[in-house]
Amino acid sequence: MSDRQKGLIGAVKDLFLEAEHRNCDRHMYQNFKQKHKGKALKDLVWNAARASNKVIFQICMEELDQEDKAAREWFNNPERPFQSWTRALFRTNTKCDMLLNNLCESFNRISKEAIWFKTDYSGGPRVSVDGPGGVNIVDMKAKSCTCRRWELTGLPCPHAYICMYYWK
Ligand SMILES: [Zn+2]
Repeated sequence: MSDRQKGLIGAVKDLFLEAEHRNCDRHMYQNFKQKHKGKALKDLVWNAARASNKVIFQICMEELDQEDKAAREWFNNPERPFQSWTRALFRTNTKCDMLLNNLCESFNRISKEAIWFKTDYSGGPRVSVDGPGGVNIVDMKAKSCTCRRWELTGLPCPHAYICMYYWK
């Protein structure tokens, strides 16, 4: 595998992690909301989820504590460890290593199959991908594709893979 492919895999892995993280946040907040409603609490919880480091995360949790003690205590539960939902503590794990292996396989496969796809980069971040299933338009900036798989799952579809493979 080339360094370029490794770089691409790193980028795709970040996308997967981001998607997984968003799902965890959403799931956590759905549960939280059943007991603790209101915009103020919602904002505080999402700030905590999006905190980029531990210090900011602590501050967010203190603010939550001041706003509503019961809401803060809801998080003292082994079912919802902090590292499962806040970006500040979110870590790569074995799941990601598996993901990485799968991605290596995908890229090796795509590098062989790429010959079946034709890409047209003339439209800026929008790339036309002509492949076995017809033409799809991938938008590398919006992270979307007309096949809709990318925006629905948060994970790049085969057309997006092809674009990343050729992306310069
Ligand atoms: Zn697609």
